[in-house]
Amino acid sequence: MIVPDDRTQANARLTAMQIGLSVLFFLLVVSFWAIQVLQHDRYLEEAESNRRKFDSLDPWKACGDCAYMPTCAGGCLTASYSQLGDVNTPTCHKPTFESAVIALAHRVSAQQETVQ
Ligand code: SF4
Repeated sequence: MIVPDDRTQANARLTAMQIGLSVLFFLLVVSFWAIQVLQHDRYLEEAESNRRKFDSLDPWKACGDCAYMPTCAGGCLTASYSQLGDVNTPTCHKPTFESAVIALAHRVSAQQETVQ
């Protein structure tokens, strides 16, 4: 029977510790990688969900047959959120558009009178 001396036992313990640390390091690297992959998948799912929500926004549906639809289409979504708390509700600028059209009509009329 072979009786290991202290030096052999110390070397065996050191080797076992090195193997243990290597395995631990490997598990940490694999865990970190797995977490990154899962987070990336979750990010992609969330991005796709947000894209679908954005595509379904249609505040202009509440505008009926408004004449300013081609230029306004329900207004700014960010303004809707900040002013009304809902991105799917139009922020209406109809009075502003109407006063601008009236001002434009007055200006054009005045120019035509000057020309004649
Ligand atoms: S002016 Fe008002 S009613 Fe007209 S499209 Fe814009 S938000 Fe809608």
